[in-house]
Amino acid sequence: MAAGPVMRVVIANRGEVAGRIIRACQELGYTSVLLHSTPDKNTPAFRMADETVELPGQTPLETYLNIPVVLQAAMKADAQMLHPGFGFLSENGTFAEEATNAGIIFVGPSAEAIRVAGNKIKAKELARKAKVPTVPSYTGTERDGKKLLAEAKKIGFPCIIKAAAGGGGKGMKVVREESEFNELLDSARREALNAFGSDVIFMEKYLEHPRHIEVQIMMDSKGNGVHFFERECSIQRRHQKILEETPSTALTPKLRDEITSCALRLAEEAGYVNAGTVEFLLDSKNNFFFMELNTRLQVEHTVTEMVCGVDLVHLQFAVALGEKIPLRQEQITQRGHALEARIYAENPSKNFLPSTGRLGQVILPLGPCRRFDFGYAATDEITPFYDPMIGKVITWAPSRAENLKRMHATLSELVIFGVFTNIEFLKAVLENAKFQNNQVSTSFLEEQFGEGFTAKPLSQGQHEFGREATQAARAIATGINGSHGTGLQYQSPWTNS
Ligand code: ADP
Repeated sequence: MAAGPVMRVVIANRGEVAGRIIRACQELGYTSVLLHSTPDKNTPAFRMADETVELPGQTPLETYLNIPVVLQAAMKADAQMLHPGFGFLSENGTFAEEATNAGIIFVGPSAEAIRVAGNKIKAKELARKAKVPTVPSYTGTERDGKKLLAEAKKIGFPCIIKAAAGGGGKGMKVVREESEFNELLDSARREALNAFGSDVIFMEKYLEHPRHIEVQIMMDSKGNGVHFFERECSIQRRHQKILEETPSTALTPKLRDEITSCALRLAEEAGYVNAGTVEFLLDSKNNFFFMELNTRLQVEHTVTEMVCGVDLVHLQFAVALGEKIPLRQEQITQRGHALEARIYAENPSKNFLPSTGRLGQVILPLGPCRRFDFGYAATDEITPFYDPMIGKVITWAPSRAENLKRMHATLSELVIFGVFTNIEFLKAVLENAKFQNNQVSTSFLEEQFGEGFTAKPLSQGQHEFGREATQAARAIATGINGSHGTGLQYQSPWTNS
């Protein structure tokens, strides 16, 4: 960009994604203004931002999801641009529209594109227009149970009932046989109404053991579009991705060509601008089907950055400012293998119950080709108000086999005390022979770890280290936060001792 007045960018998000965007602002010479809730004061993003504005309140509804409060703060901060990150208001068409009307550049697609993509029925229609394969489905307006059952039979069992306005895996019901149809239809409608304020549902064929493959795209306002290849996100727990990688071992060069072309065609048909992710399911016979278009940066964008050597947030800003994408498709290549592991504050031995509390020592083991995007540091508190993801570990290596070892070594050295974490669980997945041999699907975790997971107990040495490290963190926290430090108790990460 030509030198001009310094851009002021408001970040309407928290945790690791806020940190990610602030770093991009620093590199681009923009002033970052972080909007934060009361409990998020003193988190790493708060400490990194050039300026901060407190949104009084604790819950997301009072703060990060409160459109009038967020926009007022953005206007008061005199921001030219607003980056929504992911989650919260990032896929809210009204928010994008009101920000634009207030004269602030929304770093993302148009409100209209967000709305089309956010409605699963409209998104399916878009895919059909773009000649992108979709699973056999019923998306009509019929409400009568008997007629819907007839439609379900045409699709064939198992089929899945989904909320048109759905997201986050909520309101989805898999119907395996005719006799359970009515009951599941009622409960899908009830759940959809509760979660999304609309009981409009649709039905589609349920694929057994598919893989989740998504394509990263970037479109500019001059009509240029490129893709940054695929990510495989089949390792999911309750539809929540936990390990993501690229390239996917499931794609042949021909299949990769087809799926990435489909993703670009869909984005062009939508008149889409900025970063987006087109999600597909791939069945065991290598047929792929469009699932949804996510109109934001994804949590797992990091693996694409590692393998393609790009900075997707820089590109998002450039495109939002009306610039042309500075890359041609043939300049974008996949080099080596990248893997991301999401580190959650949760207890795998207790059915992954979220684990809140103040963090003791946190040691991020630096080393070659290891990246850490963390939302919390030692002495920060994991509160019950937000998603319990502490951060992400991303590793790169020339090949998948080497990278699985690199990730395993990195996780083995990663130290997080004060709360329970899923680190040992992630290591167990990496040690699993089927995972190592690429025999995965979205039901992998349920099949391999459905019985539950109990981590190996810590050694005496690890316990002692944990106690000492926590004492040290407590001393630091007492210095920073006064009496808060005394709340720091040593808790073994995976036993109750
Ligand atoms: P949401 O928007 O609520 O996340 P999606 O439609 O993206 O819902 O689906 C989330 C996950 O549910 C997918 O990644 C996949 O694991 C599973 N799923 C959804 N639709 C199907 C289907 N037709 N067949 C098999 N699995 C499905």
